Amino acid sequence: MNLFSKEEIENTLLKLDEWKKQNKSIIIVADIGGTNTRICFTFLESKIGDFLIMPYKKINSSRKVVELFQQLSESIQNKFKIHAGVIATGGRVLENGTIGYVTNFPLPEENQKMILKELPSNLFPEKNSIFINDLEGCCFGLLFLNQNKHLNQFYQPLWKGKEIILEDNSEIVFNKSNILVLGMGTGFGVGLMLYSGYDSKYYVIPTEFGHSIINLKNIETDKNQFELINYISNQKYQGKHSIEYGDICSGPGLVMCYNYLVQKMGLKLEPIDAATISKKSMIDEPKDEYSEVCKQAQTIHYNFLFRLASNLCVSLQCKTIFLVLDNQVKNDKFVTSKIQEFHHNFLDHPKNNWLIDVNCFRQISADENLNITFMGCLHFSQQFFSKQN
Ligand code: BGC
Repeated sequence: MNLFSKEEIENTLLKLDEWKKQNKSIIIVADIGGTNTRICFTFLESKIGDFLIMPYKKINSSRKVVELFQQLSESIQNKFKIHAGVIATGGRVLENGTIGYVTNFPLPEENQKMILKELPSNLFPEKNSIFINDLEGCCFGLLFLNQNKHLNQFYQPLWKGKEIILEDNSEIVFNKSNILVLGMGTGFGVGLMLYSGYDSKYYVIPTEFGHSIINLKNIETDKNQFELINYISNQKYQGKHSIEYGDICSGPGLVMCYNYLVQKMGLKLEPIDAATISKKSMIDEPKDEYSEVCKQAQTIHYNFLFRLASNLCVSLQCKTIFLVLDNQVKNDKFVTSKIQEFHHNFLDHPKNNWLIDVNCFRQISADENLNITFMGCLHFSQQFFSKQN
């Protein structure tokens, strides 16, 4: 069932009524990924994210997302004034935030596309509403946590570069350099925070680097990887193109790596999902060879993430990386057990002396009440849709 139940709506209205009585400026926020659509309400004055989260919906078309908004709009009618609306989508955002795509919804593009002015205006007031990219949302979320001194509750170092990154051993602080933000889910998201020394501010830039094409160093040394890339290219693009980083660094990408390894080892190929591969990759004493395949698939999946990270840290001069979102938290045990291999792979670049002082942080908390994308949308509203607007 894709719509909210009567009870879910009633509970939401009760809470909104409370906020209304307290004179709060109510905001609607949505995080629309390839798998889950998450909607919540919050208010402009919130400091840590007072989120009224509606149950997540598994939706894979923009039409269904719009239906969900329409249902909420009809329930709210004119009872509450919504001050602002921010929708983070797992996809490109065009025309100054008035058109949003969810790349990981099935094609055709019409099924991925949403137009702001076609959404109900009592939920999304014309002047104060926008689509932003989901990783752009994460970047704003990091700024929000940094500003409110909560970063270290959510992020811990995976490795430390040369520079001192923890002040007083307590707070992670941004070190006045460009920051790369990476998140693997149904797609591979990459956000950027550019630091400007002229005004000492961070500027958030959404990017689509997850779709950049993989190039190999050397076919001989990377023979297996070359084979893997051909395998995925044949499956996804009839061999016409090389593949994107996101074709490996994503849930479906992890499954592709697993399938490739299973067929290469002559094992029986049975359907499996990314969550199961991830769980099996962390079994301490695996009972079957399939768990070993899961470990290998997961290793490839992360090695490619760090390869793109090193490319981007060199080319964009980033000195800090944040690995964000729930999957990172779920895979924490795996990733921390292989820090050395991943760090070594990250440094494997002709300009490795530009990379040795890069710090990498990993997300350690996936509390759904403190969703980083929601925090980012809230922070975005605080920055750009403040009361004066
Ligand atoms: C989309 C990006 C998004 C990422 C993570 C990619 O497929 O094109 O815009 O940030 O998935 O959701």
